Amino acid sequence: MARETDVEVVIIGGGVVGLSCAYELAQSGRRVAVLERRAVLGAETSTHNSGIIHAGIYYPAGSLRARLCVAGRQRLTQRLVDWRIDHAICGKLIVAVDENEEPLLAALLDQGRANGVDDLRLITAREALEREPCIAARAALLSPSTGVFDVEDYLRTLAGHVQAAGGMMITEADAIAVDRSAARLIVQTREKGKLTARFVVNAAGLYADEAARLCGDERHTIYPCRGEYATVIPAKARLIRGLVYPPPEHLSLGVHLTKTIFGELLIGPTAQYISQKNNYEWGRMEPREFLSPAQRLCPALRESDLRWGPSGIRPKRYGPGEAAADFFIERQPDDPRIVHLVGIESPGLTAAPAIGEMVRTMILETDS
Ligand SMILES: Cc1cc2nc3c(=O)[nH]c(=O)nc-3n(C[C@H](O)[C@H](O)[C@H](O)COP(=O)(O)OP(=O)(O)OC[C@H]3O[C@@H](n4cnc5c(N)ncnc54)[C@H](O)[C@@H]3O)c2cc1C
Repeated sequence: MARETDVEVVIIGGGVVGLSCAYELAQSGRRVAVLERRAVLGAETSTHNSGIIHAGIYYPAGSLRARLCVAGRQRLTQRLVDWRIDHAICGKLIVAVDENEEPLLAALLDQGRANGVDDLRLITAREALEREPCIAARAALLSPSTGVFDVEDYLRTLAGHVQAAGGMMITEADAIAVDRSAARLIVQTREKGKLTARFVVNAAGLYADEAARLCGDERHTIYPCRGEYATVIPAKARLIRGLVYPPPEHLSLGVHLTKTIFGELLIGPTAQYISQKNNYEWGRMEPREFLSPAQRLCPALRESDLRWGPSGIRPKRYGPGEAAADFFIERQPDDPRIVHLVGIESPGLTAAPAIGEMVRTMILETDS
């Protein structure tokens, strides 16, 4: 690569969000370059998650999380079909195990409908057990359009489409400075020289606050919040067919049971704030600590069925004890050539196609 490359848009971060922005911009004929400091694309949060296509039930009506999840889910589901990526629209059950939880299902039904999720249905214990014979349920909310997919194949295919449309993927390229003093922005990388561009998109995930500071925007703080999983031995994975959730909690959707597209049964993720953004393993919970929430949903699970699973880190915009925050997707107030995406936690994987469309619109508006 030349020491100085000129493009229209530099995207900092080669996760699902950066790639989705690159896809939309490249499809509209813009010359884009994605900078990713890791050796491979999507190595951070984009491949440390549950791989679920969310319907968009939980988030406040009108929020970016709700709107972009509903729109993104439709685009994502269509792409998975068009691009022949392994997926299953298996549906999900949010179950009330005791009577106190039943009103929560009705509230979630209302929330989902307000968000435009129009296929939700409250079902009886009998119907729930027909779908999932091994769970404990007094009643359930059925979300038929929730599914699972092969995230790594999706990311590789998405990156391939960006490249086919002329986009550049530059890995092992850590963006370390952004010079805004000239007509074109200059992005300095540690390893691969400089790029000049008309626009910069900050899609740096857990490091979006640091990337914003490189651009002179000091407003953001990311609070890393780890989600851990246990896995279930293959012989017991068949106890669950699809996705079984409790009602949600403040920091997460609650420890749930996920049958992945590969047939593995995951329990999790938990939610715990941590001090380091790269601490995936130190101080993790033991598999046996997952037994109680898992057994509440599926009483036949035993401690000896549980093994260590993966973990992922949510890039939250709110710290311990604070109210939940929405995605932040805005131009920098003193420099509209820069768009920041901060706090893109769940359902970011699902919402990413719609996030890409939103960022494309913002850049085309600024350019006109
Ligand atoms: C435990 C867990 C479970 C989840 N489950 C789901 C789910 O089932 N469904 C769903 O829809 N969502 C889910 N999510 C949310 C989803 O995974 C994220 O919203 C999404 O992956 C965020 O993607 P991203 O591209 O913003 O971030 P990332 O994937 O973290 O990408 C950011 C990239 O930027 C790079 N980078 C950072 N700084 C620089 C720099 N200075 N220069 C160059 N590169 C840089 C990083 O290396 C990284 O690769 C889950 C998240 C977690 C943590």
